Amino acid sequence: MPSMTFDFAPASRADDTALPHPQLPAMSHSQDFRQRAYTKIVATLGPATDSYERIAELVQSGVDVFRMNMAHGGPEEQQPKVDIIRQVSKDLNQPVAILVDLAGPKIRLGEVANGLIQCERGDEYYFVDGDEPGNERELTSTYEPLTSELSKGDSVMLADGSVIMQVVEKQPGRVRAVVTQAGDVRSRQGINLPGVKLSAPAISVTDHMHAIWAAKAQVDFVSLSFVRAPDEVRALKDILRSSGSKADVIAKIEKREALDCLEEIVQASDAIMVARGDLGVEINVAEMPIQQKRIIRVCHRYERPVIIATQMLESMHDSQRPTRAEVTDVANAVLDGADACMLSGETAIGKFPAKAVQMMNSIALATESAIPSMMRRDSKRDDYATLHSVTRAVVCGAGIIARQLKAKTLVVSSHSGGTALALSQQRNLVPTIGVSAKESTLRKMCLYWGVTPLRGAPACDMQELIRSADGWARLLFDAKKGDPIVIVGGSHLAAGPDDDEMAGGVHDVVVVHEVEGE
Ligand code: PGA
Ligand code: MN
Repeated sequence: MPSMTFDFAPASRADDTALPHPQLPAMSHSQDFRQRAYTKIVATLGPATDSYERIAELVQSGVDVFRMNMAHGGPEEQQPKVDIIRQVSKDLNQPVAILVDLAGPKIRLGEVANGLIQCERGDEYYFVDGDEPGNERELTSTYEPLTSELSKGDSVMLADGSVIMQVVEKQPGRVRAVVTQAGDVRSRQGINLPGVKLSAPAISVTDHMHAIWAAKAQVDFVSLSFVRAPDEVRALKDILRSSGSKADVIAKIEKREALDCLEEIVQASDAIMVARGDLGVEINVAEMPIQQKRIIRVCHRYERPVIIATQMLESMHDSQRPTRAEVTDVANAVLDGADACMLSGETAIGKFPAKAVQMMNSIALATESAIPSMMRRDSKRDDYATLHSVTRAVVCGAGIIARQLKAKTLVVSSHSGGTALALSQQRNLVPTIGVSAKESTLRKMCLYWGVTPLRGAPACDMQELIRSADGWARLLFDAKKGDPIVIVGGSHLAAGPDDDEMAGGVHDVVVVHEVEGE
């Protein structure tokens, strides 16, 4: 245990040559900290949002993390967006995280005759090998072994489950299926095969390439679609680590197999996405809400951030206002304890991307402030802790102190982000500022519920940290003289920024500071 090299007298410098306060983000309407929900917002980029102006507008509307969907465009298309996000983040002086979403074993139809087929109940179609349909009743796919892996009786779900076909006969290279639920099917739409064991590798050659690009682009999160087992998550992590990336890995839960080994997948992952788009087709859609709650509960147990995705504000594709059911869905996700909510088409191809983000923020804000008792969470026992037991106890105490004193803000200095995550998981309902000497850690905090990462803070000097916290509390949270704020740090912080061994040391200091000045 290093000796304390600082005391806890009110933070003032003898020579009073005050360091400038860390620059604050340019505050727009929803960046006013009291107008930002604790729940984080993930927004998918697409044609509707690929310019500097649109991306800046989304950040100012409340986006914390941008998702790049690799199913819709490779590195050549995505790299310019990464560059724009970095520039926006610099110009607004605000950390913004990037999530690269790998397509995984997603199966799609090939081209269908005239781009659209209208399937009537009882119609017969043939799934065939290759990519050239012989006639308009023949369907091809992107998954080579499809015809050999389908069996009589299997259901083939097309167009997000709106069209269903049942396999009635199997021949080599050719499978006959009959339409049991009618509807329209378009070229390249997804195919879901609930209950069919596919031999498709979790990480295709393309996914592998995309992961290596993601590592090179130094993105913060990489997600894997259609995860079936914890080993798949570990395999992705290995690829990233061997390419020099420390990105967090997010498993997308969208298959029955994943639900069957959920605990192991959660433990193997850094965060989880409830990917309701495919999950709602792969399992009985009526069962989905209860599975959402169960996944969130397991994530809470292991302290993994969880993102709720898909159709949250679907109608805002072309409407300025969501439906009542959508508003309620977002509110319920917040009440369930989601760390983040995600927008997909709403921001990627919708007409009102910024409005959708603002709406999501305002629903979360209204919900969080109305039912605080539903937010609160018991502190974890040590069972699943990755943190040092001292840090864990200090974080626990800091939360209790901050709540009891109704602190204006809780400030945490974190090297890897782990301490900030542990504080976030308590759901203290005290606005938390995360600081770190590492920009990559600040970006990870973008996903942590209730934690606002601030750049340029003196993360490695406790005295300066207290001094800055005083300034932030007054500036950002309207704190007055005597208002309490709580700061979580470590005696090791006195060791300075370059001492690597100490940099990840334990957090063993909680300071209660009363705001100075007027
Ligand atoms: P996707 O994933 O948008 O990449 O399909 C999310 C989901 O399935 O809900
Ligand atoms: Mn999906």
